[in-house]
Formats: sequence, structure tokens, C-alpha cells
Amino acid sequence: MEQLVYLNGEYVPLSAAKISVLDRGFLFGDGVYEVIPCYQGRFLHFNAHIERLQASLQAIRLEVGYSVAQWYELVSPLLDAQCDQYVYLQITRGVAPKRDHLFPTPTVPTVFAISNAIPPFVEREQGVKALIIEDNRWLRCNIKATALLANVLLKQQAADQACAEAILVKNGYVTEGSASNVFAVVDGVLMTAPKSTAILAGITRDIVLQLANTHHIPVSETPISLAQLKTASEIWLTSSTREIVPIVEVDGQPVAAGTAGVVWHTMNALYQQYKLLAL
Ligand code: PMP
Repeated sequence: MEQLVYLNGEYVPLSAAKISVLDRGFLFGDGVYEVIPCYQGRFLHFNAHIERLQASLQAIRLEVGYSVAQWYELVSPLLDAQCDQYVYLQITRGVAPKRDHLFPTPTVPTVFAISNAIPPFVEREQGVKALIIEDNRWLRCNIKATALLANVLLKQQAADQACAEAILVKNGYVTEGSASNVFAVVDGVLMTAPKSTAILAGITRDIVLQLANTHHIPVSETPISLAQLKTASEIWLTSSTREIVPIVEVDGQPVAAGTAGVVWHTMNALYQQYKLLAL
């Protein structure tokens, strides 16, 4: 049976889900999205993801007016309790009669949701390679905007060098990854960039910081300089679908011994344990 997706109030087979070429998501990238992990039918931090979605909607001045419970009801029919999935939710500023930058009146948002299996991430234990690239994105990276052209180009540039992620650097300091947050262990302190308009406030980032605090791992929400990154004993990326992944090589140079570090082993174990309890 074909996969069902949600589109504007209906659950339809994927191949039947169609939108107009005049949709502003298509024409302008005028929309926001969310990715929510769901393990065996149970969400991890659903409320936090929906709160971030609502913040993104508010930031782009798009009114949908659904409560957390209504979002839950909307995505629930897409879940499969037999597997680990992520739900992708996208809301655009809808279809306008003609292409015009200005908001249409009335605005009827396009709401789309689909679930996909979380692919097993085989590299987690062995770690991945990353490339340092200048962060050339816009100044509102706290918004989870569908307009991801800069991120797409940055991640592809990393992939072209056989790297799984681009570590983005602005004015000599790490902001985040092209599709993740970045942590580094520097002189025994777990560092990550503070929340600002330069990064997306990752839900996984929050969980890692909370676990570090409760387990007395020293943390600092301070920007990581390029010099600190070069001397870091560990570097990780975090995201809802990839969780916590050690970066073992940066720009062709091994990070410390070139294998996952002790702090990562501790944090990964804490995260896996936390996940089971939080679901
Ligand atoms: N930053 C960017 C640019 C991202 O795309 C992502 C993943 N969506 C993250 C950070 C991590 O966020 P989360 O932990 O909520 O998945």
C-alpha cells in the first residue's frame, strides 16, 4: 500500500499529494519546517519541536493557529509504531493569485506532513569527517526556514570532499554545521556556540547540555574559536535524526587520536538511556 501523507486537511497517497506551482514555498522558499523524531510510535520532545515551529512561524509572520494537541492529532495517523521514524512538517505561505513578494491577502497556508524511516546511522561509533567552510548564510539562522540553498551548497561542498558535514565558521568562530549543531571538548570543557540568530537552537543540543549539567560534565555555551577547534580533544555534531556523532577528522587532519573520544562515549550512553526514559 502506498504511503499516506497529510496535505491541507487530507491524508492522501504520496503520489496524489499535489500543490500549485504558485505556492510561495515553491516560488520564494517562503515557509518553515520541523523534523520530529519518533521511536516505535513515540515522539521525543514533541512539545519542544512544536514550540520551535511556532517560533519559526511567528518569526516569518505566518499564522496557523494550531495548538500542540492539534499538531499531534494531525501527525498521528502518519506514525508506524513498528519502526523509528521522523515526521517532517512544512508550512508555507500558501498559494497567491500571482507571483508577488508581498504577503497575499487572505493568506491560506499550505500544511504538509510526511513520515519517513530514520535510516540506521552506521558511522556513529566510528565517527565522520568534516570540512571547515565559511558560514555564508543569512542573519536569521534561528528560523527553521525551508529556504536552505546556502545549507545545500555548503553540505554538498563538504560531501564533494567525502565529508559528512560542513563545520561553519563566521568571523573566526564556529557557528554550527550545515544541518547540525557542533560541540567541541576543549581543555576538558564541552563547548558549543550560545543560542543566537547565528544558529538553529537544536533540540538535541538542549538535551546534550542538560545531560552534561546533570552528570557534572563541565560545559560552556561560548563560541568555539578556530584555534580551539584545532586543539579540541573531541568534536561532535548533533541533530535529531543523527543524534550525537563524533567528528574524527577535520580538513583531512585527525581530531586527537582520530577516534570517538571518552566524553562522547559517556554522552552517547547517557543520551541513549535518556531517550528510552523520555519517550
Ligand atoms: N542546525 C541546523 C542548521 C540544522 O539543520 C539542524 C537539524 N535540523 C540542527 C542545527 C539540529 O537541530 P535538532 O537537534 O533540533 O535536530
